[in-house]
Amino acid sequence: MTTKLKETGATLVDRFGRTVNYVRISVTDRCDFRCVYCMSEKMEFVPRARLLTLEELTQIAQAFTELGVEKIRITGGEPLIRRNIIKLFRDIGRLSGLQELVTTTNGSQLTKMAADLREAGVKRINVSLDSLDAEKFRRITRVGELDSVLAGLDAALAANFEKIKINSVILKNQNHEEVSDLVRFAIDKQIDISFIEEMPLGVIGDHDRAEAYYSSDQIREDLEKSFTLLSTTETTGGPSKYFRIPDTETRVGFISPHSHNFCEHCNRVRLTCEGRLLLCLGQEHSVDLRHVIRANPGDMDKLKQAICDSMAIKPEGHEFNLVTKPVIMRHMSVTGG
Ligand code: SAM
Ligand code: SF4
Repeated sequence: MTTKLKETGATLVDRFGRTVNYVRISVTDRCDFRCVYCMSEKMEFVPRARLLTLEELTQIAQAFTELGVEKIRITGGEPLIRRNIIKLFRDIGRLSGLQELVTTTNGSQLTKMAADLREAGVKRINVSLDSLDAEKFRRITRVGELDSVLAGLDAALAANFEKIKINSVILKNQNHEEVSDLVRFAIDKQIDISFIEEMPLGVIGDHDRAEAYYSSDQIREDLEKSFTLLSTTETTGGPSKYFRIPDTETRVGFISPHSHNFCEHCNRVRLTCEGRLLLCLGQEHSVDLRHVIRANPGDMDKLKQAICDSMAIKPEGHEFNLVTKPVIMRHMSVTGG
């Protein structure tokens, strides 16, 4: 079924009645870290010629905002290591109709870039931080320096973002014992924190994902030994389920693809660094937007039509299974977490 652009007005709605108003854009699959749940130690990256250019990325972002998308997250790979990335933030930050420009980073470049990001219009920023112990941090990221990320987080605090959130992927026997310390750290810094269940994306050659699985419910139980968690209906437009800790500024979120499937309320799509529009993180249904723009240079209507048509193939949900081999061979860094 082809949806005619003019008939749809400015809204993207899929076959299940879900409105898509949020796009995550991976601007590179490269990274200065090699987190054990995200990548294998030796990675082959996409050749630079196959990446979307900054201009192509802006054009696609514009098409989405003209179709009613209000929130764009710039991610990767590590978005802040892409050359001239601040220009992309500035150009996307200026698009009319966009309510929120946000980003997810490992924090390694923030001492240099936090102020520029804020000035470019980034409102909220997520910083990934899985451990406060330098050795464990190094073990999980394989190469990362904890101190540089903590300094980056402080630079982000100084830059006055509207919200800062820590993202922590929790793995059994690697960092599960740190969940309370991570929450204490977030309270101390007056920021939010989300705990994420590991998803089976790509071959990582590190641990057995089923063995490392540590559920959101287990984390919550651990936290409730030290904190009161009050359930809230607050949302930041993503898949986190939030709790408040009384008398603090901190919200604790849980992203639980295994234990509490969030597909029913899915409002997002993802653009890979090669321009593949993925309709679901855990499925392969996609449309090649790079082909659409390169075959029709400057034709905004063709691009918007391709995006509208993609709604017809957005799947109902993911089918992650930790016991079988990863069904999705693509790493999170390509997809854009
Ligand atoms: N490099 C940036 C960073 O680490 O924040 C942005 C990209 S990273 C792919 C985005 C988020 O995905 C991070 O919070 C990371 O912890 C998370 N992530 C990566 N691989 C994952 C996996 N297999 N399962 C769950 N979360 C994952
Ligand atoms: Fe890099 Fe982020 Fe993946 Fe870690 S999670 S390897 S920082 S892209």
